[in-house]
Amino acid sequence: MRISEKAKAISPSPTLAIDSKFKQMKKQGIPVVGFGAGEPDFNTPENIKQAAIKAIENNFTRYTPASGTLELKQAVCDKMEKDTGLKYTTANVIICNGGKHALTNAFMAILNPGDEVIIPAPYWVSYPEMVKMADGIPVYIETEEENNFKFTMDQLEAAFTPKTRALVINTPSNPTGMVYTREELQEIADFAVKHEIYVIFDEIYEKLVYEGQHINIATLGDEIRKLTIIVNGMAKTYAMTGWRIGYAVAEAPVIKAMSNMQSHATSNPNSIAQSASVEALTGDQSFIDQMKAEYIKRRDYMVKRINSIEGLSCREPHGAFYIFMNVKGVLGKEHYGRMIHTAHELCEDILDRALVAMVPSEGFGLDGYVRLSYATSMEVITTGLDRIEEYLQGKS
Ligand code: PLP
Repeated sequence: MRISEKAKAISPSPTLAIDSKFKQMKKQGIPVVGFGAGEPDFNTPENIKQAAIKAIENNFTRYTPASGTLELKQAVCDKMEKDTGLKYTTANVIICNGGKHALTNAFMAILNPGDEVIIPAPYWVSYPEMVKMADGIPVYIETEEENNFKFTMDQLEAAFTPKTRALVINTPSNPTGMVYTREELQEIADFAVKHEIYVIFDEIYEKLVYEGQHINIATLGDEIRKLTIIVNGMAKTYAMTGWRIGYAVAEAPVIKAMSNMQSHATSNPNSIAQSASVEALTGDQSFIDQMKAEYIKRRDYMVKRINSIEGLSCREPHGAFYIFMNVKGVLGKEHYGRMIHTAHELCEDILDRALVAMVPSEGFGLDGYVRLSYATSMEVITTGLDRIEEYLQGKS
């Protein structure tokens, strides 16, 4: 089979791979529990589902403009103004098939072959592959746990070259749950403006902040606003992962370029899901606080429990729904007669022996950690952590 060099360079999503193995085991009746999925366990709120049903009944089932309906774009503009005070028009908005698609479109719109994109590690698994798909080159900055997995400005300067075209900022972060402060973002904004590079600002977890405040970097001045491509979506805030609606907000020429490509690649995102998303953005928002309260309970339990298990530790995440657990204390040791050297080997062994699915950190660009999602029930969390503890005590 002839496969392009470009396609061969793209690795499959490791998070989705773990999730599919987990789902397969479950289907076979194996009582496995999962910390793998980056997906709210809540159902989509009723008012949003009803809006979709109404859209079908009203035969809102045809093509919409390729870059999304005016109504949904306006709802995004209104949301932006309400949340940030920034005034955008519908020419600054594109609706895509999920946040992933918005990011892919963005990289395709701004990169020429060989252009570099700075990505702080640990990073969300898809950024490097998206950059490669757009003929760009990912350039990594490795952060340290001691610095809350945030890079320093010296590191950022060192990563910059004349080919640097963009920097990816994801706050709150997947996989670490860290949230950038206003001061940190101001320094990053000054850097981006000085070098005239884009900031791809992925704020898909913006409503899930438990400590401090989410700041949108575009609010830090007109110059940085012009360089910022904001990416967001319905999946995490409204428990709408399967509906596949995301969006980007940026300067009109960038949005136009993204829209042109989208018009040929996919046409419009699903018309019914777009209608439902208007309701999501403009309807009752109380669901978010209920969901947040539940996430905080789960996070607090997990942080305490993990830090009480010998060899494991974690920082308290301030947002999103992930714990980035340090497992270095249990690596380089024998478990059940077999040397376990890497987080990947550890996750495989724990899945096979203790029936707990977790995502090893290698896919996020940093060794020695495991990502656990707490977008799952308290029951699963307690069972899962019990099993991990028993595994490490040699009782599995
Ligand atoms: N950005 C980050 C950091 C994510 O974790 C995800 C999903 O896991 C996305 C973007 C994309 O979400 P979706 O394509 O489901 O809207």
